[in-house]
Parts: sequence; structure tokens; C-alpha cells
Amino acid sequence: MMDEKLQADIRDVDPDVAFPANQQHVHSTWARTFHSRPELYIQPETTQEIQKIIKLARRSRRRIVVVGCGHSPSDLTCSSSWMVNLDKYNRVLNVDHDRKRLTVQGGIRLRDLNLAANSHGFTMPNLGSIHDQSIVGAISTATHGSTLKHGLMSDSVKSIRIALSDGSIASCSPDDNQDLFRAALTSLGALGIITEVEFEMTDATNIEWEQTLKPLDWVLSRWHKDLWTNKEFTRVWWLPYMKRAIVWSASKTDKPERPPVSSWYGGSVGFHTYHILLWISNYIPRILPAIEWFVFGMQYGFSDNSVTSGIEPQRTGLLMNCLYSQFVNEWALPLEKGPEAITRMSAWINGEEGSGIPFSNKGLYVHAPVEVRVSDTSRFQPRPWMDNTNPNGPTLYLNATLYRPFLKDPPCHERYYEAFEYLMKELGGKPHWAKNFSTVTHDDLQNMFGDNLKSFLRVRNEVDPDGVFLGAWHRRYLLPADTPRFACEEKELARTKAADGGKNWFGDLTSHPRTADEKTALLSTEQGPDHDDLEDARRFRETSAESLFGTKVFDKM
Ligand SMILES: Cc1cc2nc3c(=O)[nH]c(=O)nc-3n(C[C@H](O)[C@H](O)[C@H](O)COP(=O)(O)OP(=O)(O)OC[C@H]3O[C@@H](n4cnc5c(N)ncnc54)[C@H](O)[C@@H]3O)c2cc1C
Repeated sequence: MMDEKLQADIRDVDPDVAFPANQQHVHSTWARTFHSRPELYIQPETTQEIQKIIKLARRSRRRIVVVGCGHSPSDLTCSSSWMVNLDKYNRVLNVDHDRKRLTVQGGIRLRDLNLAANSHGFTMPNLGSIHDQSIVGAISTATHGSTLKHGLMSDSVKSIRIALSDGSIASCSPDDNQDLFRAALTSLGALGIITEVEFEMTDATNIEWEQTLKPLDWVLSRWHKDLWTNKEFTRVWWLPYMKRAIVWSASKTDKPERPPVSSWYGGSVGFHTYHILLWISNYIPRILPAIEWFVFGMQYGFSDNSVTSGIEPQRTGLLMNCLYSQFVNEWALPLEKGPEAITRMSAWINGEEGSGIPFSNKGLYVHAPVEVRVSDTSRFQPRPWMDNTNPNGPTLYLNATLYRPFLKDPPCHERYYEAFEYLMKELGGKPHWAKNFSTVTHDDLQNMFGDNLKSFLRVRNEVDPDGVFLGAWHRRYLLPADTPRFACEEKELARTKAADGGKNWFGDLTSHPRTADEKTALLSTEQGPDHDDLEDARRFRETSAESLFGTKVFDKM
């Protein structure tokens, strides 16, 4: 039941405007790493409804978290307060054919944005592995693809409108309100509710892609030559025990579509076999090198230089198969550090000399692949304050993926990430905001971001002095230790083990601290998330097709 004061406030504030709130929602991240139960889950359909939510939250001292589709695997979007989702605020507002720009509402998913763009002959210039995210969720965490011809996804954003904590709507762009624009480009949800985005497209086209299994030495020997520049898009999957890598690259083409031949774990047999093998490795980790050899041999061929290829629209051709629930720990570092980073990490994983990483790898086995991707943001101005990429040249991303087979954490998780993050920090890396970094502190981030973090916080505090958009994640990582509590801020009360292996996350508001009895009752409640559809939703993608043995997901990595 909503408390009476809140019910009265809802009647008082903009009485003609709806307040579409649900009190039963359970929020889960895509990877089911976290679950939380917001007091209210609100899906506005109009700008007035968004403004009413903000006015009410500030008046009744609640924190607001906006959630796109919860694809960030950390606790960034967890809340016990008010959760706002813009899935019903997702329209295309304007198409500027001359400048190839679409202006859209903040809740639109990348897939729908790209479909709308395609109907006008345009496409998004770049994509990451998937297109399920909301446009604002993607830009808010510095989401990227893999190409030196492009930067962050937010580099295509030309202007933004944002609903601020006083209920007003502000516009910003490189020429207008630039400080706010730089904060909004990677806002981490801490600034306000981004309601509109003007996004620059490129002409729609097909891409021709090819993927080849190569020795790791070959990859490292081409690193400073043409590995990353040969084609417009290139990404590498490093297979640490085989000391090989799959090199995927693609260029624009006028040729007609040519679907790829089907792949092993793209089909049901391979998909489930790999999942079960990963699950067994949770109990017998030493079989992981053999799993890597078998699975990637079945998928890409057992000998070097085996090639698969295809021609697809850019809109779907850039996507890939993300398989199962996973931890992802991705860092951005200068591209020239790549050979050293991979050689040292390889030495550590394989128990060889020369890693310089002061953690034992005894008995520790990891999952493949380590994703190796690139971007180049150095040409783009103005930069987001919270941009984690290299301002002086190309950026490398290394992503240490760890699957959670049947939602069970792998045993190497903590030590692997400790070692990986040690190396990333030593090589001048910065973490991907959305992902599962684990040893990073506020002081680390202060050293990494320096005055940019201060500028971000200055703008943030100006537009949200009561902390309506501040949660525990923001305090942990962004705020200096001596920052006083904000009136609407939410802190973390506890996290408990969830029935499905993830974590139940509980928050506490500055303004409405829970009593000891409330805390006990809350923490003893079984919070089983009820999302049977998620496992299937994770597999079914637009390019899925029925095969003889079940559903084929993707034919490429
Ligand atoms: C399978 C998978 C593949 C991925 N692939 C890639 C990849 O290739 N490259 C990459 O860089 N990342 C990748 N990611 C990470 C993903 O792009 C980010 O986590 C992204 O933020 C998710 O978007 P979302 O809509 O789910 O946002 P959420 O995770 O729900 O939210 C992210 C942040 O955006 C804020 N936010 C959302 N909407 C608004 C709004 N309207 N106003 C203000 N703040 C808002 C939230 O408060 C939060 O701080 C992947 C994630 C998954 C699960």
C-alpha cells in the first residue's frame, strides 16, 4: 500500500496528469546478477508524466533510477525506491533527411531506432554486440562497438533533452549548454531523465564479414600494422589456452545478402552442449582448456585459417551471439598497450614466467574468449566528462567474460578479476561503466578521471542538488568520501543471495530510513524473481531461424 501522504501528493501535483505506477515489479539485470524490488515501477507515456514523476519524487524525498532494459550487469540500476522505465516513451519524433538525423524519445530500443532509420535509407553507424538496449541506456554507460573508424555510440548524438530534478526540461548540444551536454553523454543515470536524443545516422548498406582462426602470434605481429585498419569493423576473440584468436572483420559492400552457413553452438545441440560443459567445469575447472579446444574447434574448425563469411545488412551483421548469463569485466586502455596486456595476461593464465601479476593462478582456469575490441574517440569533441577512452589516440577494450552456466558463478571469478584488474590498472586502463569491475575504488577513479570527474560532479550537483538521481553505485564510485548525504539519495542496505544464484539488492532512503524491524522483515523475505521467459529471450534474436534440431541463434561469434 502507498502511504497516505504519497497518495495525497499524487492527487495534488499536476492532478490531470496520469501517474502509471506499479507496486509489484521485480527488476532483474539481463544476466540475472542482481534483482531488486522498487517501491514503484513507473512507465510514463508523455513528457508531462515524466515531469510529474520527478516533481513528486522530489517532494516526497524519493530517489529515481531510470532503467532501460537492465542490460548493465552491475547494481547500477538496482533500487528499492522509484524505478522509471521509458519503454512506452519510445517514438521517433523527427527525421532530418538532409542531415541524416533521427530525433527519438529516450526509451526507444536500438533495434527499433535502426528499423526506423532503415525505412528512410539510413542505419546506425556502429553497434556493439546486440541491439536490445535503449538508446539512452547505451549512451549513458559509454557503450561501444569495435572499429577505429568510430568512437563511442554517444559520438553520434547531436543534441539531448533532459528532464531535471526541478521538473524542467533542458536542451543541450555541443553549441548550447555544453557542460550539461558533456555530462549527459555518459550520465550514468545520475543527472536526470533523458527524454530525447538527436542521433546522426549513415546510409544503410550491407556489410561483408569474414572470420578466421589465427595463431595469437599472428594477431600480435599484425597489431601495429593492419590488424585494426584493414577493414572498417574488426574484433578479435582471444582463446587463451589454445593461444589462438578468431579475427572477425567486415566492410561495407554493394553485394547482395549471403547468409552464412550454420554454426555449431548456433544450433540447439551445440548451444546446450557448451552450456552443460561450462556447468561441469564449475566443479572440475581443469577441463576448461579441453572445452576451449573442443567448442571453438567445433565452431570455427580445428585448424588455423579456417574461414566463415557472410553478407548481411549492417543493422544485423554487426551483432553477435552472447550465449549465456555472464560476468563481463571490460577495460579501455591505449591501443598500443595491447600486445603487452595480452602477452602478460596470457603468461598469467597459462602459469608461465613474465606476467608481473602478483596473484597466484594456482588451480585457476578461466573461460574463453577474452574479447578484444577497439574504438577511436580522439577525433570527437566535445568529449563526455565520464568518457573512459583514450583521448590521445585509439582505444583498446579487453573484456574478460566469465559465463554463469545455469546461473551459477564460476569458481575462478574473484581471483581472475583481481589479477585482470591489477594489470589493467597498471597499464593505464579505465573500466567500462556498465560492467562487473570489482576492485575499483573512488580513489582509483579519481586518479583515472581527475578534473573530468570533478566537472561531472559539479554539473550533476547543480542540476540535482537533492540527489533525486543518486544511488549507492554513484556514491561508491563517484562521490568523494566526505560528501554529505543528499536528501533524496538511496544507499545500499544489504544484498542477499537470491534463489537463482544472483543477488537480491536492498536500498534505504536518506529521508525514510527503515527501522530495525523493517530491515529484519525485509531481509528474511524470500525474493525469488519470476522471469521464466528470460532464458529464452536471451537466445532468440532477430536473425534466429528454426533448424532441424531446434532454434538456430547466430551463425557467427
Ligand atoms: C548481452 C549484452 C551485450 C552487450 N554488448 C555490449 C557491447 O557490445 N558494447 C558495450 O559497450 N556494451 C555492451 N553491453 C552493455 C550495455 O550496452 C550497457 O549495459 C547499456 O547501458 C545497457 O542499456 P540498457 O538500455 O539496458 O540500460 P540500463 O542497463 O538499464 O541502464 C544503464 C544506465 O543508463 C541509465 N539510463 C537509462 N535510461 C535512461 C534515461 N532515459 N535517462 C537517464 N538515464 C538513463 C540508467 O539509469 C543506468 O545508469 C552489453 C550488455 C549485454 C547484456
